[in-house]
Amino acid sequence: MDFELNQEQKMYQRTVHDFCAGEIKPYAAEIDETGELRWEAIRKMPELGLTGLQVPEEYGGANLDTMTATLAIEELGWACGSTALSLAAHNGLCCSPITNWGSQAQKERYLPKLISGDCLGSLALTEPGAGSDLAGGVQTAGVKEGDSWIIDGSKAWITNPKYAPVIVTLVRTDKQAGTKGFSLLLVEPKSEGLTIHPPEKKMGLKGSPTQMLSFDEVRVPLDAALGGEGQGFYQTMQTLDSGRISIGALSVGLARAAFEEAVKYAKQRRAFGKSIADHQAIQWMIADAAMEIEAARLMVWRAAWLKDQGRDYGKQAAMGKLMASEVAEKVCRNAIQIHGSYGYSREYPVERIYRDQRLMTIGEGTSEIQRLVISRHVLKEFDN
Ligand SMILES: Cc1cc2nc3c(=O)[nH]c(=O)nc-3n(C[C@H](O)[C@H](O)[C@H](O)COP(=O)(O)OP(=O)(O)OC[C@H]3O[C@@H](n4cnc5c(N)ncnc54)[C@H](O)[C@@H]3O)c2cc1C
Repeated sequence: MDFELNQEQKMYQRTVHDFCAGEIKPYAAEIDETGELRWEAIRKMPELGLTGLQVPEEYGGANLDTMTATLAIEELGWACGSTALSLAAHNGLCCSPITNWGSQAQKERYLPKLISGDCLGSLALTEPGAGSDLAGGVQTAGVKEGDSWIIDGSKAWITNPKYAPVIVTLVRTDKQAGTKGFSLLLVEPKSEGLTIHPPEKKMGLKGSPTQMLSFDEVRVPLDAALGGEGQGFYQTMQTLDSGRISIGALSVGLARAAFEEAVKYAKQRRAFGKSIADHQAIQWMIADAAMEIEAARLMVWRAAWLKDQGRDYGKQAAMGKLMASEVAEKVCRNAIQIHGSYGYSREYPVERIYRDQRLMTIGEGTSEIQRLVISRHVLKEFDN
């Protein structure tokens, strides 16, 4: 066992931390208020590899291992939930499937643009009637006609489409073929018949655009399919397995940010003649948060490490995401409790962080679905 990050990882973590501390964290409240990401910061991200964390170097990416990429997402989460979600979706949900299954031509067409810092990629799975149950519920159809796919249907709750040069879109190509009847198609936002609706008005993560898409006979070339036809469902499941490591890291970052605010506040706020940090009830909340953040981080790291070893990591990714998102919920809740009324005010960051973290038990598979995934793995292990 080796619990130390290596020198390169430590250096990268420090570099990303400093960048986030200077370029993102001080603007997080403004991003939340205005609903706009800070593009001045995003345009600087390619220098640090943040827009192409695991994209191969030949396309200009940083080609990092999952463990190191995970460190970067935690720092982004610590700085600003909106920025972190948009970057996590861009890297994990758009660049990753194109890197993993794209043809040479698809990679050359999209990856250099995606990592440029001028745009953010998008993956469209969810629909108005289907989120957890994609296999049973996805209605958006892709039908072959001549040298094209014709896409009809709608997608909901999609991150980044207004900034995307390409939207990786899950379509059903064969109703009779079950999970083998899906493909991921690369759709360019300017395609005729595609409407990208205005961003949803959300509880948190307000700077990260979440939008609905309507496809009305959208025509894309046959070679817009990612990897082999009929692979879309399996590609989606693999992308989500990996994305869960990222959402776990983001949750740890949000929890850490709220925790730091709570400890600072507890040390300076006084009640009953002493600082509230000297009251045992507050110390217990601090102790629990410190322990749970560390446990969550270790679980996320273990999933990342397993992935880097080329080993099965689906169960650990679900466990890490479940644990970290639920820890974030509790830590952020208690951070507000420690702040008293000030925690309920927009004057202090814990209110925003609490709203931002709320998505983490829902996006990329709800907590209930993570439990389903974990129990399926465990029950299967007991078959042998
Ligand atoms: C800010 C934001 C960003 C998002 N970004 C994207 C994106 O970029 N791309 C994308 O495709 N989607 C995105 N989503 C959608 C998100 O992934 C889905 O909302 C999520 O997967 C849950 O789906 P649902 O909302 O349809 O809930 P449902 O599937 O309708 O679930 C509703 C409730 O029922 C529970 N439930 C469902 N099935 C079971 C079961 N078998 N057992 C027990 N309980 C169950 C769920 O856990 C949940 O509590 C985003 C959502 C938000 C809010």
